[in-house]
Amino acid sequence: MKLFCIVSMRHKILFFLILKVSVLMGQSNAIDSLEARSADPALRDSLRIEILNDLSREYLFVSTSKAYHYTQEALDLSLRTKSKRGEAHVYRNLASIYFTQELFYESSGYIEKALVLFQQLGDSVGIGNCYITRGHIFRYQEDYKKSMEYQRKAVDIFRSKGLPERLGVSLHNLGEDQMLAGDLVSARATTYEATSILEPLRNLSVLSSCYKVLGMIDFRELKFEEAEKNFKKVLKISDVLGPNSQKVATTQALLFLARLAQKKGQDKEIQYLVRAVQLARENKYGKPLYAAYSQMVDFYSRKNDFSKVTKSLKELVVVQDSALSSLKLDKARLTEAAMKVLRTDLENKKLLVEQELQEQVIQNQRNQILGYVALVLVLISATVFYYQANERRSSMNETLTSQKKIIEEKSIRLEELNEIKIKFFSIVSHDLRSPLTSLKGFVSLFQNNFDSLSKGDIQLMMSALNKELSNTLNLTDNLLTWARSQMQLSEVNPAAVVLNNLIKPLALLYGVMANKKDIQITVLIPEDLTVYADPNQVEFVLRNLMDNAVKFTPRQGVIKIVASQVDSIAIISVENSGKGIHPDAIKHLFTVGKNGRTQGTEGEKGTGLGLVLCKEFIEKNAGTIAVESELGRGSKFTIILPLAE
Ligand code: ADP
Repeated sequence: MKLFCIVSMRHKILFFLILKVSVLMGQSNAIDSLEARSADPALRDSLRIEILNDLSREYLFVSTSKAYHYTQEALDLSLRTKSKRGEAHVYRNLASIYFTQELFYESSGYIEKALVLFQQLGDSVGIGNCYITRGHIFRYQEDYKKSMEYQRKAVDIFRSKGLPERLGVSLHNLGEDQMLAGDLVSARATTYEATSILEPLRNLSVLSSCYKVLGMIDFRELKFEEAEKNFKKVLKISDVLGPNSQKVATTQALLFLARLAQKKGQDKEIQYLVRAVQLARENKYGKPLYAAYSQMVDFYSRKNDFSKVTKSLKELVVVQDSALSSLKLDKARLTEAAMKVLRTDLENKKLLVEQELQEQVIQNQRNQILGYVALVLVLISATVFYYQANERRSSMNETLTSQKKIIEEKSIRLEELNEIKIKFFSIVSHDLRSPLTSLKGFVSLFQNNFDSLSKGDIQLMMSALNKELSNTLNLTDNLLTWARSQMQLSEVNPAAVVLNNLIKPLALLYGVMANKKDIQITVLIPEDLTVYADPNQVEFVLRNLMDNAVKFTPRQGVIKIVASQVDSIAIISVENSGKGIHPDAIKHLFTVGKNGRTQGTEGEKGTGLGLVLCKEFIEKNAGTIAVESELGRGSKFTIILPLAE
């Protein structure tokens, strides 16, 4: 008690000091200053939103419609400038406005919205303020336990943040809740702390509410004189603040002062009630107005002034109606505001949907571009692959063509080999078999008629046998040479060959045979004419040509063997007189199996392989062989060979 008295004394002195200063400075209250600042056209948007929201708060218990008006302005500007902070304050204000109208559902919705935004912004002051409003909502529903819980949370935040004005306000709220909950001791201590903070700050509006709470505590504790002093302080502040006073507190103070006057039997009771009625009517405070008229009815009843009782009762009904219609009007305005907020909400959602759609479109376009890029890459790879495949195909084609060529060549070669094989067998079967058959015939004849054969017969038979055997041997030699050559077994070993060294011995050998037919052989070879060729093969060729020449030259005919040098080649010809070769036969003279073999002038047999081998050997030695012939005159075989260096 002692402590309270000391606090009360200090508090009393301070209060009057503040009041004096406030009046002297001519600064009626925060509302005037805020409204003045809001009129400045050069104000930054963020600051204007702040001022509009502050104004809305200041008007919360002063004028609901003004509070609503400033909130709406703040909302417009916040949305236009995309100020989340401004929006959060607007929602908190809307929540406060709704709860003064006892629309708790809407109020709770807005305070939750505000709380979420403040939490997103990390604004602990905003969060604390939301707790204050939450507390108020529970107080209006008379759930003081919850109300105190939220006010305490707000007190903790503002105390830790070191915000005296906010701390003062939240302490005042806690104190009022404690008083309403019946904890008068705590209520007093809390409210004293609130006033000690708010007095130096000259927050007269909240201070007047604090004194109202203190008066109510006093009244409940039956300290009527103390109570009267506190309620009068409320009236004094109300006078100083004028139209911007805390009217709920003032109305409540007037109603309590009327009750105190009644206790003292003072006539002032009705004056307080009339003022309370006036104030409540002006501000459309349904509850206080109803309470004022109720007290008025009671007053006139006590005075037995029944006409005034009736009048007051009528007023009570009228005010009740008017309060109701005013409430309806406010509710209509609030509905409009709510619709606007909802519309804005919807527009925001629509914008979000559109933004999402746009993002989707951009994403789709991005995907499309990626698709095109992928397609182009696929096309490029396909083209590269196509060209590579083409190159591979053409190189494969080349390989195939060359392989085909090789195969064709091989099949031609096979055909040739097959022809060779056929020819070989025909030669073997005919040319080799027939002499052998005739040889066998000779041997049988000899065997069967051995006794009857004379010596001369035997000599004749042996001579014929010898001739036949040498022919067969010659054929066998040629056949084997040809076969070796065909099977690529004969190697070419070229060397410098002096032609005379080869031709002279051959000329001697064939000269003997030629003599028998009375043939004249002429040999004209430059002494040192040297060719570069395989000596055995060149000898084979010359032997064949000379053999044919002797064979096909008739008796008394001539054979000329001539050689000469032209540039880097040697030209050698073997020419003989005779019937010559038919042009049709010349075409196939060097082709195996096709040359029309004929017998020599004396019936000499041949193999038909000689010229074929000659051509092969000459070509293997980088030379050529050719034939000229005139029917009835003779033939001339010419070979050309490279000279030895
Ligand atoms: P052959 O062992 O039958 O003589 P060749 O291949 O040497 O085999 O000759 C083939 C054929 O060409 C002969 O059978 C002959 O009809 C013809 N011939 C070759 N040389 C002469 C020549 N000097 N005069 C006429 N005909 C010839």
